[in-house]
Amino acid sequence: MNLIDGKATAAAIKAEIKEEVEKIVAQGGKRPHLAAVLVGHDGGSETYVKNKVLACEACGFESTLIRYEDDITEEELLDCVSRLNSDSNIDGFIVQLPLPRHINEQKVIEAIDYRKDVDGFHPINVGRMAIGLPCFISATPLGILTLLKRYGIPTSGKKCVVLGRSNIVGKPMAQLMMQKQYGDSTVTVCHSRSLNLKEECRQADILIAAIGRPDFVTADMVKEGATVIDVGTTRVPDATRKSGFRLNGDVKFDEVAPKCAYITPVPGGVGPMTICMLMLNTLSAGKHEFYN
Ligand code: NAP
Repeated sequence: MNLIDGKATAAAIKAEIKEEVEKIVAQGGKRPHLAAVLVGHDGGSETYVKNKVLACEACGFESTLIRYEDDITEEELLDCVSRLNSDSNIDGFIVQLPLPRHINEQKVIEAIDYRKDVDGFHPINVGRMAIGLPCFISATPLGILTLLKRYGIPTSGKKCVVLGRSNIVGKPMAQLMMQKQYGDSTVTVCHSRSLNLKEECRQADILIAAIGRPDFVTADMVKEGATVIDVGTTRVPDATRKSGFRLNGDVKFDEVAPKCAYITPVPGGVGPMTICMLMLNTLSAGKHEFYN
C-alpha cells in the first residue's frame, strides 16, 4: 500500500507557484490577488478561509478577506460581488459556501464574473470544463486529478467509480475522469438512490468517495489493488482532541488501506490539494491564462 501524501504534494506545488510569482514580479508583472468573502461564523468556513489566506502568503499572492455578518442581505452581497468584478486589482475571488439560507447561492455564483471565478462554479466554467475547453476547474476534482498524475497512477481505460454527485465534487470529478485529455477512464457515478452500490464499488480500479458519510466505504467494497481517494471530511465528536472533534473520511481507512495500491488519508490527502488548486487557479487568473 502506498499512501498518497496530499500535504507534501500541495507544499511542493505551492513552492512552484511562489517561484513563478516571484519571476513574474521580477519582470515587472502584477502579484496575483485573491479576495475571499466570508459570511457569518460557521466553524468549518472560518477554518477554510483562514487556510486559504495562509496559502496565499505561501504562494506570494496578495489576499483580501471581506467579512460580513450572517444578516447581510442578498442585495448587499450581490453589490459586493459586483464591486469585486469591476476591481482591476483583484484577479480572482471566492464567496465561501455555504451561505445563510435567506441568500440564493446559485444567484451569487452566477453574479461572479466567470473570468474571476477561481472556484470554477460559474455555469460558463462548468460548461467549458464539460466540453474540454480551457477554464477554471473546481479545486477538489482538479486536486484529485493532480494527485493521480503526480503519483503516476494509470487512469486511461480504467474503471472509475465516483460516489456522490454534488455540483462541486462528484459531477465535475466524473466529467474529468471520463474526458480523454484528463482521466480517460470508464466512469460510473453512484448516489443515494443507486442500487448494487457495493458491487459497483468492487469493480473500481479507482474509487473516489465524496458523500460525507464517515467510514462508509468498507474493505468488502474495495477490489484488491485499487486506488482509493477519500474526499469526505465530516467533523465527528472526539473528546481526546482540544477542538472536541476530528475530521473523518468516507473510507474506513484501517481496513481498506491494506487492500489498496494507493490511498489518500484524511486529513492530509485531498484537503490540502483543494486549497492548493485554488492557488493554481488564482495564478492562472493573474496570468489571464484562460480569458482576457
Ligand atoms: P453533498 O453536496 O452533500 O453531496 C453528497 C453526495 O453523496 C450526494 O450526491 C448524495 O446523493 C451522496 N450520498 C449521500 N449519502 C449517500 C449514501 N449513503 N450512499 C450513496 N451516496 C450517498 O456533499 P459534497 O459537497 O460533494 O461533499 C462530500 C464530502 O466531501 C463531504 O464530507 C465534504 O465535507 C467533503 N468535501 C471535502 C473537500 C476537501 O477538500 N477535502 C472538498 C469538498 C467537499 P444524492 O445526490 O442522491 O443526495
